[in-house]
Amino acid sequence: MSKILIKRVKLVDPSQNLEDTKDILIEKGRIKAIGDNLFELEAHVIEAKGLVACPSFVDLHVHLRDPGHEYKEDLESGMRCAVAGGYTTLLCMPNTEPPIDSPEVAQYIIRKAEDIGLCKVLPAGALTKGRRGKELTDFYALKKAGCMAFTDDGSPLTDSRLMQRAIELAEQVGTFVMNHCEDDKLAVGHINEGYISSMLGILSRPASAEDVLVARDCILAYHLGGHVHIQHLSSSLSVEIVRFFKERGTKVTCEVNPHHLVLTEDEVLKSHSKAKVNPPLRREEDRRALIEALLDGTIDCIATDHAPHAVWEKGLLEKAMPGMIGLQTALPIMLQLVRENLISLSKMVELMSCKPATILGLDGCGSLREGARANLVIFDPEREWLLNEETNLSKSKNTPLWNRPLKGKVFYTIFEGRIVFQDV
Ligand SMILES: [Zn+2]
Repeated sequence: MSKILIKRVKLVDPSQNLEDTKDILIEKGRIKAIGDNLFELEAHVIEAKGLVACPSFVDLHVHLRDPGHEYKEDLESGMRCAVAGGYTTLLCMPNTEPPIDSPEVAQYIIRKAEDIGLCKVLPAGALTKGRRGKELTDFYALKKAGCMAFTDDGSPLTDSRLMQRAIELAEQVGTFVMNHCEDDKLAVGHINEGYISSMLGILSRPASAEDVLVARDCILAYHLGGHVHIQHLSSSLSVEIVRFFKERGTKVTCEVNPHHLVLTEDEVLKSHSKAKVNPPLRREEDRRALIEALLDGTIDCIATDHAPHAVWEKGLLEKAMPGMIGLQTALPIMLQLVRENLISLSKMVELMSCKPATILGLDGCGSLREGARANLVIFDPEREWLLNEETNLSKSKNTPLWNRPLKGKVFYTIFEGRIVFQDV
Protein backbone atom coordinates (compact mmCIF):
# COMPACT_ATOMS: atom_id res chain seq x y z
CA MET A 1 0.00 0.00 0.00
CA SER A 2 1.71 3.16 -1.07
CA LYS A 3 -0.82 5.57 0.44
CA ILE A 4 -1.46 5.96 4.16
CA LEU A 5 -4.06 8.28 5.67
CA ILE A 6 -3.73 9.06 9.37
CA LYS A 7 -6.98 10.44 10.78
CA ARG A 8 -7.48 12.84 13.69
CA VAL A 9 -4.00 12.53 15.16
CA LYS A 10 -2.46 15.11 17.48
CA LEU A 11 0.40 16.27 15.28
CA VAL A 12 3.37 17.70 17.15
CA ASP A 13 5.98 19.18 14.82
CA PRO A 14 8.22 21.90 16.28
CA SER A 15 9.83 22.42 12.85
CA GLN A 16 6.61 24.11 11.72
CA ASN A 17 5.44 25.19 15.15
CA LEU A 18 2.49 22.85 14.97
CA GLU A 19 0.59 21.14 17.78
CA ASP A 20 -2.91 20.44 16.59
CA THR A 21 -5.33 17.67 15.63
CA LYS A 22 -4.85 16.95 11.92
CA ASP A 23 -5.12 14.34 9.18
CA ILE A 24 -1.89 13.35 7.44
CA LEU A 25 -1.76 11.84 3.96
CA ILE A 26 1.34 9.93 2.95
CA GLU A 27 2.00 9.07 -0.68
CA LYS A 28 5.07 7.72 -2.44
CA GLY A 29 7.17 7.95 0.69
CA ARG A 30 6.45 11.60 1.35
CA ILE A 31 4.02 13.79 3.29
CA LYS A 32 1.51 14.61 0.60
CA ALA A 33 -0.88 16.73 2.67
CA ILE A 34 -1.71 17.85 6.19
CA GLY A 35 -5.28 19.01 6.66
CA ASP A 36 -8.56 18.81 8.54
CA ASN A 37 -10.78 16.47 6.57
CA LEU A 38 -8.58 14.62 4.15
CA PHE A 39 -10.06 11.82 2.09
CA GLU A 40 -8.29 9.32 -0.14
CA LEU A 41 -10.10 6.34 -1.56
CA GLU A 42 -7.17 3.95 -1.94
CA ALA A 43 -5.29 4.74 1.25
CA HIS A 44 -4.63 2.47 4.20
CA VAL A 45 -6.42 4.38 6.98
CA ILE A 46 -5.06 4.67 10.51
CA GLU A 47 -7.67 5.95 12.97
CA ALA A 48 -5.46 7.83 15.41
CA LYS A 49 -7.81 9.71 17.72
CA GLY A 50 -6.09 10.16 21.09
CA LEU A 51 -2.67 9.34 19.63
CA VAL A 52 0.26 11.65 18.97
CA ALA A 53 2.24 11.82 15.71
CA CYS A 54 5.62 13.50 15.38
CA PRO A 55 8.76 13.28 13.27
CA SER A 56 10.43 9.96 14.11
CA PHE A 57 13.41 10.02 16.43
CA VAL A 58 17.07 10.36 15.56
CA ASP A 59 19.61 8.73 17.89
CA LEU A 60 23.17 10.05 17.79
CA HIS A 61 24.49 7.29 20.06
CA VAL A 62 23.79 3.57 19.66
CA HIS A 63 25.92 0.46 19.93
CA LEU A 64 24.66 -2.11 17.44
CA ARG A 65 27.58 -4.51 18.13
CA ASP A 66 27.79 -5.58 14.49
CA PRO A 67 30.34 -6.66 13.28
CA GLY A 68 31.97 -8.76 15.96
CA HIS A 69 29.68 -8.93 18.99
CA GLU A 70 26.50 -10.23 17.41
CA TYR A 71 25.70 -12.28 20.51
CA LYS A 72 24.78 -8.95 22.20
CA GLU A 73 22.99 -7.34 19.23
CA ASP A 74 23.24 -7.27 15.45
CA LEU A 75 22.10 -4.79 12.86
CA GLU A 76 18.74 -6.46 12.39
CA SER A 77 17.84 -6.86 16.08
CA GLY A 78 19.12 -3.33 16.80
CA MET A 79 17.06 -1.88 13.98
CA ARG A 80 13.94 -3.77 15.10
CA CYS A 81 14.45 -2.46 18.59
CA ALA A 82 14.95 1.07 17.23
CA VAL A 83 11.75 1.22 15.20
CA ALA A 84 9.83 -0.23 18.16
CA GLY A 85 11.09 2.79 20.10
CA GLY A 86 10.09 5.27 17.37
CA TYR A 87 13.59 5.77 15.91
CA THR A 88 14.28 5.73 12.16
CA THR A 89 17.81 7.19 12.09
CA LEU A 90 20.71 5.80 14.11
CA LEU A 91 24.32 6.87 14.38
CA CYS A 92 26.14 3.69 15.38
CA MET A 93 29.31 3.80 17.44
CA PRO A 94 32.58 2.39 16.08
CA ASN A 95 33.60 0.13 19.00
CA THR A 96 32.82 -2.98 16.99
CA GLU A 97 35.21 -5.83 16.15
CA PRO A 98 36.89 -4.82 13.92
CA PRO A 99 36.22 -1.18 14.79
CA ILE A 100 34.88 1.24 12.18
CA ASP A 101 38.34 2.56 11.38
CA SER A 102 38.35 1.53 7.72
CA PRO A 103 36.02 2.30 4.79
CA GLU A 104 35.34 -1.44 4.41
CA VAL A 105 33.70 -1.76 7.83
CA ALA A 106 31.69 1.45 7.32
CA GLN A 107 30.47 0.13 3.97
CA TYR A 108 29.61 -3.28 5.43
CA ILE A 109 27.30 -1.58 7.96
CA ILE A 110 25.68 0.76 5.46
CA ARG A 111 25.01 -2.03 2.92
CA LYS A 112 23.72 -4.53 5.46
CA ALA A 113 21.42 -1.90 7.01
CA GLU A 114 20.10 -0.94 3.57
CA ASP A 115 19.30 -4.60 2.86
CA ILE A 116 17.39 -4.89 6.13
CA GLY A 117 15.66 -1.65 5.25
CA LEU A 118 13.81 -0.97 8.51
CA CYS A 119 15.46 2.38 9.20
CA LYS A 120 18.58 4.36 8.40
CA VAL A 121 21.86 3.40 10.04
CA LEU A 122 24.76 5.79 9.69
CA PRO A 123 28.19 4.86 11.02
CA ALA A 124 30.38 7.04 13.18
CA GLY A 125 34.01 6.43 12.28
CA ALA A 126 36.70 5.77 14.88
CA LEU A 127 38.81 8.80 15.74
CA THR A 128 41.99 6.76 16.05
CA LYS A 129 43.27 3.57 14.46
CA GLY A 130 42.10 0.55 16.44
CA ARG A 131 40.56 3.06 18.90
CA ARG A 132 43.94 3.07 20.62
CA GLY A 133 44.17 6.86 20.97
CA LYS A 134 47.56 7.06 19.23
CA GLU A 135 47.08 7.81 15.54
CA LEU A 136 44.14 9.43 13.74
CA THR A 137 42.18 7.43 11.18
CA ASP A 138 41.85 8.56 7.56
CA PHE A 139 38.94 11.01 8.02
CA TYR A 140 38.71 11.72 4.32
CA ALA A 141 38.36 8.06 3.30
CA LEU A 142 35.94 7.31 6.14
CA LYS A 143 33.77 10.32 5.35
CA LYS A 144 33.71 9.26 1.70
CA ALA A 145 32.61 5.77 2.82
CA GLY A 146 29.66 7.27 4.70
CA CYS A 147 30.88 8.07 8.23
CA MET A 148 28.99 11.05 9.61
CA ALA A 149 31.23 11.96 12.59
CA PHE A 150 34.27 10.65 14.46
CA THR A 151 34.58 9.28 17.98
CA ASP A 152 36.41 6.63 19.99
CA ASP A 153 33.30 6.30 22.18
CA GLY A 154 33.77 4.00 25.13
CA SER A 155 37.31 5.35 25.37
CA PRO A 156 38.09 9.05 25.68
CA LEU A 157 40.63 10.77 23.47
CA THR A 158 42.85 12.26 26.16
CA ASP A 159 45.79 13.38 24.00
CA SER A 160 45.07 17.12 23.55
CA ARG A 161 47.42 17.52 20.61
CA LEU A 162 45.66 14.71 18.76
CA MET A 163 42.25 16.13 19.67
CA GLN A 164 43.25 19.51 18.29
CA ARG A 165 44.33 17.90 15.02
CA ALA A 166 41.12 15.83 14.90
CA ILE A 167 38.91 18.92 15.27
CA GLU A 168 40.78 20.64 12.44
CA LEU A 169 40.67 17.63 10.14
CA ALA A 170 36.99 16.91 10.83
CA GLU A 171 36.20 20.52 9.93
CA GLN A 172 38.15 20.14 6.67
CA VAL A 173 36.12 17.11 5.60
CA GLY A 174 32.86 18.79 6.61
CA THR A 175 32.02 16.87 9.74
CA PHE A 176 32.76 16.93 13.49
CA VAL A 177 34.34 15.14 16.41
CA MET A 178 32.37 13.54 19.24
CA ASN A 179 34.08 12.66 22.49
CA HIS A 180 33.32 10.34 25.40
CA CYS A 181 34.58 12.76 28.04
CA GLU A 182 35.92 10.80 31.02
CA ASP A 183 39.65 10.99 31.73
CA ASP A 184 40.54 7.33 32.19
CA LYS A 185 43.35 8.13 34.62
CA LEU A 186 40.70 9.57 36.97
CA ALA A 187 37.74 7.36 36.10
CA VAL A 188 39.13 3.99 37.11
CA GLY A 189 36.15 2.48 38.90
CA HIS A 190 32.59 1.31 38.46
CA ILE A 191 30.08 3.82 39.84
CA ASN A 192 29.90 7.53 40.70
CA GLU A 193 32.31 8.74 43.36
CA GLY A 194 30.07 9.55 46.29
CA TYR A 195 28.46 8.15 49.40
CA ILE A 196 27.44 4.88 47.74
CA SER A 197 30.93 4.13 46.41
CA SER A 198 32.32 4.87 49.90
CA MET A 199 29.66 2.76 51.56
CA LEU A 200 30.29 -0.20 49.23
CA GLY A 201 34.03 0.45 49.28
CA ILE A 202 34.46 0.14 45.53
CA LEU A 203 36.52 2.08 43.02
CA SER A 204 34.66 4.98 41.49
CA ARG A 205 34.42 7.42 38.60
CA PRO A 206 34.37 11.01 39.88
CA ALA A 207 32.56 13.81 38.05
CA SER A 208 35.96 15.56 37.83
CA ALA A 209 37.03 12.91 35.26
CA GLU A 210 34.24 14.17 33.02
CA ASP A 211 34.61 17.86 33.85
CA VAL A 212 38.30 18.12 32.89
CA LEU A 213 37.75 16.65 29.44
CA VAL A 214 34.55 18.60 28.77
CA ALA A 215 36.48 21.78 29.64
CA ARG A 216 39.44 20.74 27.48
CA ASP A 217 37.23 20.00 24.46
CA CYS A 218 35.25 23.23 24.85
CA ILE A 219 38.51 25.20 25.07
CA LEU A 220 39.88 23.56 21.92
CA ALA A 221 36.62 24.15 20.03
CA TYR A 222 36.64 27.77 21.24
CA HIS A 223 40.16 28.43 19.96
CA LEU A 224 39.88 26.46 16.73
CA GLY A 225 36.33 27.46 15.80
CA GLY A 226 35.59 23.79 15.06
CA HIS A 227 32.58 21.75 16.12
CA VAL A 228 32.89 19.35 19.05
CA HIS A 229 29.99 17.21 20.24
CA ILE A 230 30.12 16.10 23.88
CA GLN A 231 28.64 12.64 24.32
CA HIS A 232 26.44 11.72 27.27
CA LEU A 233 26.86 14.73 29.55
CA SER A 234 26.16 13.73 33.15
CA SER A 235 27.73 16.13 35.66
CA SER A 236 26.37 19.48 36.84
CA LEU A 237 29.74 21.21 36.54
CA SER A 238 30.08 19.96 32.95
CA VAL A 239 26.69 21.54 32.25
CA GLU A 240 28.00 24.86 33.59
CA ILE A 241 31.15 24.56 31.48
CA VAL A 242 29.19 23.92 28.27
CA ARG A 243 26.83 26.79 29.11
CA PHE A 244 29.80 29.13 29.61
CA PHE A 245 31.28 28.26 26.22
CA LYS A 246 27.97 28.30 24.35
CA GLU A 247 27.36 31.83 25.63
CA ARG A 248 30.65 32.75 23.97
CA GLY A 249 29.63 31.35 20.60
CA THR A 250 31.69 28.15 20.76
CA LYS A 251 30.54 25.47 18.33
CA VAL A 252 29.90 22.86 20.99
CA THR A 253 26.84 20.60 21.04
CA CYS A 254 25.96 17.94 23.55
CA GLU A 255 23.63 15.10 24.31
CA VAL A 256 22.20 13.54 27.45
CA ASN A 257 21.03 9.95 27.93
CA PRO A 258 17.48 9.32 29.20
CA HIS A 259 18.79 7.22 32.14
CA HIS A 260 20.75 10.19 33.51
CA LEU A 261 17.50 12.19 33.57
CA VAL A 262 15.49 9.77 35.73
CA LEU A 263 17.98 7.65 37.68
CA THR A 264 20.67 8.52 40.22
CA GLU A 265 23.52 6.65 41.89
CA ASP A 266 20.99 5.26 44.42
CA GLU A 267 19.81 2.95 41.65
CA VAL A 268 23.00 0.93 42.13
CA LEU A 269 21.67 -0.31 45.50
CA LYS A 270 18.54 -1.63 43.78
CA SER A 271 19.76 -2.79 40.40
CA HIS A 272 23.47 -3.50 41.05
CA SER A 273 25.37 -4.12 37.82
CA LYS A 274 22.31 -3.27 35.71
CA ALA A 275 22.79 0.32 36.91
CA LYS A 276 26.46 0.33 35.93
CA VAL A 277 27.00 2.69 33.01
CA ASN A 278 29.71 5.08 31.81
CA PRO A 279 29.56 7.92 32.66
CA PRO A 280 27.92 6.68 35.86
CA LEU A 281 24.51 7.58 37.28
CA ARG A 282 25.26 10.58 39.45
CA ARG A 283 23.69 12.64 42.26
CA GLU A 284 20.19 14.11 42.39
CA GLU A 285 21.64 17.60 41.94
CA ASP A 286 23.35 16.49 38.72
CA ARG A 287 20.07 15.04 37.47
CA ARG A 288 18.31 18.32 38.18
CA ALA A 289 21.03 20.35 36.45
CA LEU A 290 20.68 18.17 33.34
CA ILE A 291 16.92 18.73 33.18
CA GLU A 292 17.40 22.47 33.59
CA ALA A 293 19.97 22.40 30.79
CA LEU A 294 17.43 20.78 28.44
CA LEU A 295 15.21 23.80 28.88
CA ASP A 296 17.73 26.57 28.24
CA GLY A 297 19.32 24.83 25.24
CA THR A 298 22.64 24.04 26.93
CA ILE A 299 21.92 20.40 26.13
CA ASP A 300 20.99 20.01 22.49
CA CYS A 301 19.49 16.57 22.29
CA ILE A 302 18.62 13.18 23.75
CA ALA A 303 20.71 10.17 22.69
CA THR A 304 20.14 6.72 24.15
CA ASP A 305 23.65 5.19 24.37
CA HIS A 306 21.86 1.88 23.75
CA ALA A 307 24.55 -0.54 24.93
CA PRO A 308 23.50 -4.20 24.85
CA HIS A 309 25.42 -6.82 26.86
CA ALA A 310 24.83 -10.51 27.47
CA VAL A 311 23.52 -11.68 30.86
CA TRP A 312 26.90 -13.23 31.78
CA GLU A 313 28.62 -9.88 31.15
CA LYS A 314 26.37 -8.22 33.72
CA GLY A 315 27.24 -10.30 36.79
CA LEU A 316 29.14 -8.86 39.76
CA LEU A 317 29.20 -5.06 39.83
CA GLU A 318 32.99 -4.87 39.81
CA LYS A 319 33.33 -7.30 36.90
CA ALA A 320 30.32 -6.20 34.83
CA MET A 321 30.54 -4.34 31.54
CA PRO A 322 29.17 -0.79 31.63
CA GLY A 323 26.04 0.19 29.71
CA MET A 324 22.33 -0.41 29.37
CA ILE A 325 19.90 -0.88 26.51
CA GLY A 326 17.70 2.14 25.85
CA LEU A 327 16.05 2.34 22.43
CA GLN A 328 12.63 1.12 23.58
CA THR A 329 12.57 2.98 26.89
CA ALA A 330 13.64 6.47 25.75
CA LEU A 331 10.12 7.61 24.82
CA PRO A 332 8.44 6.49 28.07
CA ILE A 333 11.25 8.13 30.07
CA MET A 334 10.90 11.41 28.21
CA LEU A 335 7.10 11.28 28.54
CA GLN A 336 7.57 10.95 32.29
CA LEU A 337 9.34 14.34 32.24
CA VAL A 338 6.45 15.73 30.15
CA ARG A 339 3.88 14.44 32.66
CA GLU A 340 5.88 15.99 35.50
CA ASN A 341 5.65 19.31 33.60
CA LEU A 342 9.41 19.56 33.40
CA ILE A 343 9.40 19.80 29.59
CA SER A 344 6.66 20.24 26.97
CA LEU A 345 5.72 17.61 24.40
CA SER A 346 6.99 19.87 21.66
CA LYS A 347 10.33 20.29 23.45
CA MET A 348 10.57 16.52 23.75
CA VAL A 349 10.15 16.12 19.97
CA GLU A 350 12.71 18.83 19.35
CA LEU A 351 15.23 17.04 21.60
CA MET A 352 14.61 13.57 20.17
CA SER A 353 14.13 14.41 16.51
CA CYS A 354 14.65 17.93 15.15
CA LYS A 355 17.86 18.84 16.98
CA PRO A 356 19.79 15.60 16.46
CA ALA A 357 18.79 15.71 12.76
CA THR A 358 20.16 19.25 12.54
CA ILE A 359 23.42 18.29 14.30
CA LEU A 360 23.99 15.55 11.73
CA GLY A 361 22.94 17.89 8.92
CA LEU A 362 20.28 15.44 7.74
CA ASP A 363 17.54 16.25 5.31
CA GLY A 364 14.51 14.05 5.41
CA CYS A 365 14.06 13.74 9.13
CA GLY A 366 13.11 16.00 11.99
CA SER A 367 10.21 17.58 10.09
CA LEU A 368 6.79 16.63 8.72
CA ARG A 369 6.27 19.53 6.36
CA GLU A 370 4.31 18.80 3.20
CA GLY A 371 6.75 17.31 0.70
CA ALA A 372 9.12 16.00 3.39
CA ARG A 373 10.05 12.32 3.58
CA ALA A 374 7.45 10.46 5.61
CA ASN A 375 9.52 9.48 8.66
CA LEU A 376 7.20 9.59 11.64
CA VAL A 377 6.08 7.87 14.79
CA ILE A 378 2.57 7.50 16.18
CA PHE A 379 2.33 6.77 19.90
CA ASP A 380 -0.09 6.61 22.79
CA PRO A 381 1.32 8.76 25.61
CA GLU A 382 -0.94 7.06 28.18
CA ARG A 383 -0.52 3.38 27.33
CA GLU A 384 1.08 1.39 30.14
CA TRP A 385 3.37 -1.53 29.39
CA LEU A 386 6.37 -3.49 30.62
CA LEU A 387 9.66 -4.16 28.91
CA ASN A 388 9.91 -7.94 29.28
CA GLU A 389 10.64 -11.12 27.32
CA GLU A 390 7.54 -10.53 25.24
CA THR A 391 8.02 -6.87 24.30
CA ASN A 392 11.82 -6.54 24.22
CA LEU A 393 13.27 -6.65 20.71
CA SER A 394 16.93 -6.33 21.63
CA LYS A 395 19.03 -9.49 21.95
CA SER A 396 20.01 -8.20 25.40
CA LYS A 397 18.02 -7.16 28.43
CA ASN A 398 20.47 -5.16 30.53
CA THR A 399 18.41 -2.30 31.90
CA PRO A 400 17.25 -1.39 35.40
CA LEU A 401 13.84 -0.70 33.81
CA TRP A 402 13.30 -4.39 32.97
CA ASN A 403 9.82 -5.40 34.10
CA ARG A 404 9.08 -1.99 35.59
CA PRO A 405 5.87 -0.18 34.59
CA LEU A 406 6.41 2.23 31.69
CA LYS A 407 3.91 4.73 30.32
CA GLY A 408 3.88 5.72 26.64
CA LYS A 409 3.99 3.19 23.80
CA VAL A 410 4.79 3.40 20.10
CA PHE A 411 1.90 2.11 17.96
CA TYR A 412 3.31 2.78 14.48
CA THR A 413 6.68 3.77 13.10
CA ILE A 414 6.73 4.87 9.48
CA PHE A 415 10.01 5.00 7.55
CA GLU A 416 10.05 6.59 4.10
CA GLY A 417 6.31 6.06 3.83
CA ARG A 418 6.38 2.38 4.89
CA ILE A 419 5.02 1.01 8.18
CA VAL A 420 8.13 -0.64 9.69
CA PHE A 421 6.69 -1.20 13.17
CA GLN A 422 3.13 -1.73 14.28
CA ASP A 423 1.72 -2.63 17.68
CA VAL A 424 -2.02 -2.26 17.89
ZN1 LIG B 1 30.38 6.69 25.67
